[in-house]
Amino acid sequence: MSKRDYYEVLGVNRDAGDDEIKKAYRKLAMKFHPDRNPDNKEAEEKFKEAKEAYEMLSDPQKKAAYDRYGHAGVDPSMGAGPGAQGFDGFADAFGDIFGDLFGGGGRGGRSNVYRGADLRYNLEITLEEAARGAEKTIRIPTVEECGTCHGSGAKPGTHPKPCPTCQGHGQVRVQQGFFSIQQTCPKCHGSGKIIPDPCRDCGGAGRTKKQKTLEVKIPAGIDDGMRLRHAGHGEPGLNGGPPGDLYVEIHIRKHAVFERDHDDLHCEMPISITTAALGGEIEIPTLEGMARLKIPAETQSGKVFRLRGKGIKNVRSHVHGDLMCHVVVETPVNLTERQKELLREFEESASGNATRHNPKAQGWMDKVRDFFGG
Ligand SMILES: [Zn+2]
Ligand SMILES: [Zn+2]
Repeated sequence: MSKRDYYEVLGVNRDAGDDEIKKAYRKLAMKFHPDRNPDNKEAEEKFKEAKEAYEMLSDPQKKAAYDRYGHAGVDPSMGAGPGAQGFDGFADAFGDIFGDLFGGGGRGGRSNVYRGADLRYNLEITLEEAARGAEKTIRIPTVEECGTCHGSGAKPGTHPKPCPTCQGHGQVRVQQGFFSIQQTCPKCHGSGKIIPDPCRDCGGAGRTKKQKTLEVKIPAGIDDGMRLRHAGHGEPGLNGGPPGDLYVEIHIRKHAVFERDHDDLHCEMPISITTAALGGEIEIPTLEGMARLKIPAETQSGKVFRLRGKGIKNVRSHVHGDLMCHVVVETPVNLTERQKELLREFEESASGNATRHNPKAQGWMDKVRDFFGG
């Protein structure tokens, strides 16, 4: 499924500010809102597209993820249902925008219809899983209709009754100073009903908490802190409102060998003084297994070898990063008498010729002498 660029959808530049994004969205929303285009599928699609784009670009965190990783960074298409309920519940998320557009009754006269809250799920994965992509099954809380009372909340054999406080309207008028204002009924909380004999299994809520499993598709190249949106898998809405969304936030476990920096990987590579001095071939780890690396003679500690394309595949561009091997020349330990003797012999042969064999140390000594004005 290919998706249009969110900036393109809203018709703004990538550097557009909050106000410009909001303005562009209002314009599209006015034009394509389902209330204004009844039974027009194309307008509905356009409205949903614009809504999604605005939802992403108006949220600093989502916008940052999108700017860096594109749709994969915020992609709601990963196994999730279409954000179809989206426009139905527009009043909650965008009440501030639509309040003045569609009149105060932006909720279309439905009272106490709320979109469910968004949920966040922290998912820890390994670096290998992040690099290759993975499929994970997670368990998330959900709410289901109570099987005992079938959602009514009333004990089997009994029925909810109209609320006596509001006569079933769900709203009561309250006098405040000179004004009479409408308020949600405090007794029935707007439902208009009371349950004299609550169902024992759900305590009258009509719903029970359950766990459900969800397949999460992790795209290859995903980075720490990125979020995957699963539309409609958040908390259920209230009184027929649409559910919220589930955000799976990715946390990548620390790796024993590699450190990640965006799409590049770094690793430390200890080599012996003889390999460093004489050169040689060594084995180094990559995400795809061991690879061989030629070490040229006279390699110094701190030297970095770049293995092109052995890093992480970018989640958006699919271009591979590099693997940087940082050479650490290791001082030999646990030497035998014979080995020490050889090293002393080497030291003797090299003495008097420091400039030739230790150019760095020699240069450093010269600087120190200059510093002391010697
Ligand atoms: Zn029940
Ligand atoms: Zn009531």
